[in-house]
Amino acid sequence: MKEVLARYGVMVNRNNMCCCPIHQERHPSMKVFKDGYRCFACGSCGDIFSFIQAKEHCDFKTAFTILGGTYEHHSNETARVAAQMKFSRKKVQAQRAKQEEKRFRQTLMDAIGMCEYWIENREPFDDDWVFAQNKILWLWANYEDKYIQEMEINEVNVYRTCREIEQRFLTL
Ligand SMILES: [Zn+2]
Repeated sequence: MKEVLARYGVMVNRNNMCCCPIHQERHPSMKVFKDGYRCFACGSCGDIFSFIQAKEHCDFKTAFTILGGTYEHHSNETARVAAQMKFSRKKVQAQRAKQEEKRFRQTLMDAIGMCEYWIENREPFDDDWVFAQNKILWLWANYEDKYIQEMEINEVNVYRTCREIEQRFLTL
């Protein structure tokens, strides 16, 4: 529900209240739930679909489409449930991907940091210095090239190399 409100620039406060965008007001009268809302001032209430319907003055089918659903010959209730499931599944997937990317980038940055340490603190052409020089460009290339392309292929390699660098660093 909060995501849908956010699309209309409506901020929900810590008590899960917001200014009702349906009747327009200055003081928050709308209680926001995980999957719905209720305005204590104008009495408007429902789920994400009824919210869009009230806000856009449209029917369920249009609201459903606005929220990213594709309309087939389902009953409204089936479509509503299916769309809600799709909505939350997408959200979970997006969060997971974001966490994985964060972890991936952090691992790379840590390894880059260790290489930079060697490059700065070792005599040029000493073992660690050469090792670090060899790895650092490759690490940066992976960092820049993002994750996104060929992620599955590269990920294993990157994690393995970063572990190798870390092991070496830990035995200093
Ligand atoms: Zn209201």
